[in-house]
Formats: sequence, structure tokens, C-alpha cells
Amino acid sequence: MGRKLLLEHINEPGINTFDVYRQKGGYRAVEKALKTMSPDDVVEEVKKSGLRGRGGAGFPTGMKWGFLAKPEGVPRYLVCNGDESEPGTFKDRFLMTHIPHALVEGMIVSSYALGANTSYIYVRGEMMPQIRILEKAIAEAKAAGFLGNNILGSGYNLEIYVQPGGGAYICGEETALLESLEGKRGNPRIKPPFPAIAGLYGCPTVVNNVESIASVVPIVNDGGEEYAKIGIERSTGTKLISASGNINKPGVYEIELGVSVEEFIYSDEYCGGIANGKRLKALVAGGSSVPILPANLITKTAAGNARLMTYESLADGGFQTGTMLGSGGFIVYDEDQCIVRNTWNFARFYHHESCGQCSPCREGTGWMEKVLHKIELGHGTMEDIDLLWDIQRKIEGNTICPLGDAAAWPVAAAIRHFRDEFEWHVLNPQESQTRNYGLAHYADPLAPVVQ
Ligand code: SF4
Repeated sequence: MGRKLLLEHINEPGINTFDVYRQKGGYRAVEKALKTMSPDDVVEEVKKSGLRGRGGAGFPTGMKWGFLAKPEGVPRYLVCNGDESEPGTFKDRFLMTHIPHALVEGMIVSSYALGANTSYIYVRGEMMPQIRILEKAIAEAKAAGFLGNNILGSGYNLEIYVQPGGGAYICGEETALLESLEGKRGNPRIKPPFPAIAGLYGCPTVVNNVESIASVVPIVNDGGEEYAKIGIERSTGTKLISASGNINKPGVYEIELGVSVEEFIYSDEYCGGIANGKRLKALVAGGSSVPILPANLITKTAAGNARLMTYESLADGGFQTGTMLGSGGFIVYDEDQCIVRNTWNFARFYHHESCGQCSPCREGTGWMEKVLHKIELGHGTMEDIDLLWDIQRKIEGNTICPLGDAAAWPVAAAIRHFRDEFEWHVLNPQESQTRNYGLAHYADPLAPVVQ
């Protein structure tokens, strides 16, 4: 049984309330930080921990904090990115729903470390229950003296506000999030300047993911070095994984980084194996943006090493034979699933969510969706597969924000690893139109009816 740092008390009745959370040792990190540590001490512990951003990019959190500009007389902000919208990823929602005080406590300690006196939790607009839960948790913490003026007599002041998101996936991109928080349309900004220099209202700002901020609590409680003892190499600590698809036990799991992918899929402690006795066909390991892996590259790398749940091992082989840990959105596909249909479904999502600022993304995502739909419906040609490859190549690396790459990578990987399946659709138009993919809930009500 792996160590749990975030979900240790998940089954404790009432852990969503201040009283129970406090009884279980909650808010000790705030007491320790504000009474015995300087803000720089907290930053130092986070650097020692090796914590990497849990939202998807995996950038070292302590290093990000170290970039924050500190001009005299200018406010600094901490903004928590709770705009979780990546298909297949639902771990932040789980954390905010069931242990909201872990996030509030992490916000207080992190804001203290960064010298922020006003902080925001930007939550996906569709998650109204979670917004209400967080507002209640903040009110409870404030009533107990952990927020407001002169917290615990330390002289440190902090207010935290919850902001409902703008209702778009792109608002999860940090600069689009800041635009939205300022009351504008959520369009990504051109970087530089980076938020650490000019973020919210032009002031130095750190934007961190929900899980990253909650992870600061055990780091302060136990020390950065203790945290870094968990995991392997540069993948330290624990990670929340949202597991879904054709597995026996879908859900949110906290793993110690370094568990093997095989153990995660097949052991009863985690996913419990492939549902209905089927065979494993493919895996999306880190949310819809990352390259899909075929069965032969899931449990072992191309070099024959065991594939581990770490940033490095999942990326082993680059995009030719590897993928990314990403946001931890772990989607498992059994032998009955159609990769072309799945890729079209993802492409449809990215086309819908493109903000439209740059042509390769705005036009390219639309073309990919159309061509994929054509192939999936049995009307495609071999040239369409090459066209699809060409379109994704022209998007990757040519856009303002990473949504373009996120749209291109799944298409590239699907063609790279499952080209035969694309060709099957071209060569078998009749069957392609009538095959039951077992994905009825993905059906597009506007798609042509196929007899
Ligand atoms: Fe907008 Fe797409 Fe360009 Fe990002 S890549 S700025 S989402 S058009």
C-alpha cells in the first residue's frame, strides 16, 4: 500500500468540515510556517521537495516561485488554477469536493511564502457545487482565525476569493485564466512577459494547480527532504491519478510516483484490471492532450524496461514510443474501442475549445475534426490520412499557446501507432459505417445518421 499524503483521511466522515480536518492534524502547516518559518524558508522547502506542477506541464514548483518578481510597493498574487477541463482528468474536482481544507491550507501557506495578501481560486464555471464547498471552507477557516488580518498573531494578512471560471477549456491556460479573472475574454497572452513578472493586473503572479498547492501542506509539515524521498529521480512525492475507461475500478487514486504502469492497471489496489475480461488495446496516460500508446508500449518501454508512473519513464522514447504523465488523466481502452473514433472525439473537443486567435489552431483543429469524421464514417481516402498528418504537423509549435500542440499530438500519435486502423476504415467503408464501437455515449447528435 503506497503512502497517502493528500488522501490519507479521505474516508473519515466529515473530513470536508473544518472541525474534522483540524482534528486530523489540519492547519498544522499554517501554524508551523507562520510561527517558525520565514517566507523564504517555505520556498526553500518546496525547492528541496522537488515538487513539479501537477496541472500537466510538470515544471518545478519551487523554481517557478523563485522567478516571482518582488518590486517595492507592488502587490503579488497567488492564483490557484482549478479550471480542470482536460477530458479524462477529474482529480482536482475530487480534492476540492472531498477535502477542500487541504487546498485552503495550501493556499495560506503558499500565499505566505510568496508574500501575497490577496489570492484567488479560479474554479471551472461548471463546478458550482465545488465553488460553494470552497466558499464554505474559506469562511470556516476565517472564523477560526486562519484567514483575515494578523493570522495567528503573526502580522500576516490574507484574503482568499473563489472566482467561477469563464466556461472555456482555454481558461485553464494560465495567461487566459488571468485575462478571465480580470473580467475579460479568456484569450491567452503572448509570452513574455511571464506572469511571474506581469500577471494579474500587471503585477507579479504565480499560477499553480490545485493539487500542487495542496501538496505544499505535507511538504511544510514533514520537510522538503522527506517529501523528496518518495518517488524516483526527478519524479518526487505522490500524484493523484484520475483513472477511467475500460477498467474494473475507475476513480481517483493517490500513487507514489514510481509505481509501475502494469501494477497500476492490474492490481486490486488501483484499477483492478481490464473490465469484462477484455484485452488492453491502448492508453492515454495524462489526459486527452498527450500521445496515445499502443498495448506493446504501455507496460514496457521500447528498450524493454518496465514503464513506470513517472514523468521520465512515461516520456521514455520521446513521442516516437513514449508519452507524458501530463495531468494524470489515465484513460484505458480495451480491444473493442475504435482509435479513429476516439481521435475524432478529441479533435472535436479541441476545435470547439480553440479561442481562434491564431490561424493554425483555429483552422487546423477544424480541418482535423472534419477529416477524421470523414474517415470514421467510411468516406475517407488514403490521401486523407496523409492530409491529417500534414495538418497536425503545421499546427504543432506554430501557435500562441499550448492548445495547438495539445490538439496535434493525439492525432499524430494515433496515426503513428494505429495507421492500420485508419486504413481499415478507408478499405472497409461499409463496415466502418455500421460497426458498433461500444461508445454510444460519444455519439454526436448532429452527425449524419448511418443506416
Ligand atoms: Fe487560441 Fe488555439 Fe492560438 Fe491557443 S493555440 S491562442 S487556443 S487559437
